Order: sequence, then structure tokens, then C-alpha cells
Amino acid sequence: MSAAVIREVDVAVVGAGTMGSMALWHLSRMRGADGRPLRVLGLEQFGTVHTHGAFSGESRLFRVAAKEGRLFVPAAREARSQWLELGRLAGRDLLLPSGVLHIAPGGHADLDATLAAIAEHDLPHRHLGAEDLRRQYPQFHVEDRDEGVLDELAGALRPESAVHAASRQAVASGAEILHGTAVLGIEERADGVRLSTSAGEVHAERVIVTAGPWTARLVPDLADLLTVRVLTLAWFVPEDIGPFLPHRFPGFMRDLEELHVFGAPSLDGYSIKASPHLLLPDVARPEERPTELSREQLRWLGEQARRVIPALDPEPVRWSVHTDSQSPDGRPLIDTLGDGRITVAAGMSGNGFKFAPVWGQAAAELAVTGGSRWQHEEFTLAHHRSLLAPV
Ligand SMILES: Cc1cc2nc3c(=O)[nH]c(=O)nc-3n(C[C@H](O)[C@H](O)[C@H](O)COP(=O)(O)OP(=O)(O)OC[C@H]3O[C@@H](n4cnc5c(N)ncnc54)[C@H](O)[C@@H]3O)c2cc1C
Repeated sequence: MSAAVIREVDVAVVGAGTMGSMALWHLSRMRGADGRPLRVLGLEQFGTVHTHGAFSGESRLFRVAAKEGRLFVPAAREARSQWLELGRLAGRDLLLPSGVLHIAPGGHADLDATLAAIAEHDLPHRHLGAEDLRRQYPQFHVEDRDEGVLDELAGALRPESAVHAASRQAVASGAEILHGTAVLGIEERADGVRLSTSAGEVHAERVIVTAGPWTARLVPDLADLLTVRVLTLAWFVPEDIGPFLPHRFPGFMRDLEELHVFGAPSLDGYSIKASPHLLLPDVARPEERPTELSREQLRWLGEQARRVIPALDPEPVRWSVHTDSQSPDGRPLIDTLGDGRITVAAGMSGNGFKFAPVWGQAAAELAVTGGSRWQHEEFTLAHHRSLLAPV
């Protein structure tokens, strides 16, 4: 005997984290072909804001001068205006306009890519030599061959508030979100898509899967494309917090030859995020990520953070371990599957938060209209599959 159908909707969104909350926000403002508002349902296994997803950890860097390639700059510009709109609607500062400073040895590939994006799109910025950096940003250790570029449209996003705000706006515009409701299976049928959930069955005309690092468990066909990457965050106390408050200190990325550190100004008033890239092995499932770091790993984090910002106390005062879904080339996977009833937005590869309103919009538009100007050939399933094809 099959379980009772608890909801019949036009579009169901599986996972109301980063991409899901943004897709829900957009869907709640869209209309169907008959001009009526869509019946929209979000299904989230945890609460509105939780610590298990790819979005948690207090801040996310937002950059417009995207080193990831030129097709990302227009998306980042659009995302910026959507972040500001969402912040206005929610009455919250979701995007702190601190700028993001990238410091690296001259000629570093990522620095050059950032400068190329700035030149191509004529973005407001400051390009600084080593002496300028030492004078204007004495918080950082700077070597003679270093250069810096400040992306002036960039800043720090507040991810928990952002997911909360988008979820609230979606509900205020007519969507429903069932929290504490896990989707257990997705079955495409001739008349729609049947979702089995921990609360009963849902029938949807269309489904968007935004399950982040859980995506391949729900859509096993994607298991060869999407891996579960483990990422750590760390916070340290500086000798004096004043120079690290948001009006004096930007978000930053610091590349040394073999080290990448990123961070944000102090948001809690006593510590700053300064996260050296700690290489941890992928896991099969988000629940398998480590919950403890060893003394040796914590010591390493402190040593590396102090190479970049010498005034930090070496002991991390906070740290956390997260996962994100990783695609083969770091490009997101945003595409419809099969006969077009199921759309996926995943594979955000440690880089998706800044674009979330736009990638959420792309998923919503793909699901409802079959196309979106924000989708790109490099985001398609065919593109990602081609990277795995034997040569
Ligand atoms: C440590 C770290 C630092 C990062 N730094 C940056 C940065 O500085 N700038 C930047 O732009 N990006 C950054 N990123 C990347 C960005 O945060 C992620 O790419 C983005 O949050 C991924 O969003 P998502 O929607 O795919 O996943 P999530 O936000 O995890 O959302 C998935 C949701 O689906 C739910 N779900 C899963 N399975 C089910 C199910 N079966 N039923 C119901 N619900 C389900 C989950 O509970 C979760 O809420 C960082 C990521 C990490 C981990």
C-alpha cells in the first residue's frame, strides 16, 4: 500500500539550504503559464538554519572580480544587486561592503585572473604594490614581491542570515517550506514526480534538487560527477581587535607559493576568520566528515594563519568542519535531467555562496520555463560528463 499524498504542488524544492532557499524565493514570485502563482513547496531535512550544510560558518566571501573566469562576473554583478534587494526586504545587512583584498606574489595565476576580470569589465578596484600594502594594510605580513588588488564591490556575506531571509521571503510570498522533513526517494512518473518523504508522499509537476553535498545520495546517477569535499574554517584572536573590525579590515585571500588562506573581518567583536586551506580527504557522505581536528592540525592552522597575519594568537579560538559538493572542474552543475521534470543545482565546489541568488534563479527558471539566461553550457550535465569521458 502506498503512503498518503500529503501535498500536490507545481514545484517542489528538495533541500532548503543555500541554493534551495534562493530558488524558493524566486519561485514564490513566479507565475505559471496560466498566470496563477505557482504552488511551491520546499522540503528540508533540518531546520531553517542549521550547522550541517555547506552554508554554515558565519561569513562567506563575496567577490565581483571573479578569478574563476569571465562568465562569472556578470553573474556576480547580478548577485550583488539581488543580495542588496534581499537585505532590504529582510531589514538585514546580508552583504557587508568591506571589499575583498587579494594578496599574492606578482604573476600568481589567480591574481592575474582577477586583474584580467577587472580590466575586461572595468570594475572599481585598487591595485597595490608591496609598499602600499604595508602602509595601508599593516595587519598583513607582506613580502617585497607581493601585490594586492582590492575588489571594491566585494565584501562579506552573512550566510545563515541569508538562508533565513530567503526562506522567510519565500514563505511571505506564498511558498510553503516543511522543515524537519527528509526526502527519501525521487521517482519520475508519466504524470509528474513522486517524492517519498519522512512525512508522507508529495506529488509535484516539477522538482528542483538542491541537496548540496547530499545530492548524489538522492540522485545516484550523479554519483560519478559529484564528490563530497571537506573544508575547514578557523578563527583566531588578534592582539588588538580594532584594526580587524569591518570598517578597517577587508575580506581577504592570501596566496603564498604553497598556501592559500582566506578570511573575513571580525563579526563577533573578538576574533577574525583566517582559514588556511587544510587538505582533508573527501568523504562518501557529509555525516562522515571529521568532527575533531588533531592538536597537530590545529597547530598547523595557527602557524599558517600567523604567516599571513603575525598579530594573531596561534591557538584557534573556533574552528569547524563542513562539506560542499564538488564537480569535476569546479563549475556548478545546473541543468534538467531526463525528460525535464527534474532540475539539479549542485556541485558548487567551495565557491557557490556568492552566486546563490542567481544560481537559485537559474534553477527556478529552468524548472518552470525550460531555460534561463543564467545557465551556461559549462553548467550542463553534458559538459560535466564530457570531463569524465575516457580520452
Ligand atoms: C567551509 C566553506 C567555506 C566556503 N567559503 C565560500 C566563500 O567564501 N564564498 C563563496 O562564494 N562560497 C563559499 N563556499 C561555498 C558555498 O558555501 C557552497 O557552495 C554553498 O553553500 C552550497 O550550497 P548548496 O545549496 O549546494 O548546499 P547546502 O547549503 O548544504 O544546502 C543543501 C540543503 O539540502 C538539505 N538536504 C539534503 N538532503 C536532503 C534530503 N534528503 N531531504 C531534505 N533536505 C535535504 C540539507 O539539509 C541542506 O540544508 C564555502 C563552502 C564551505 C563548506
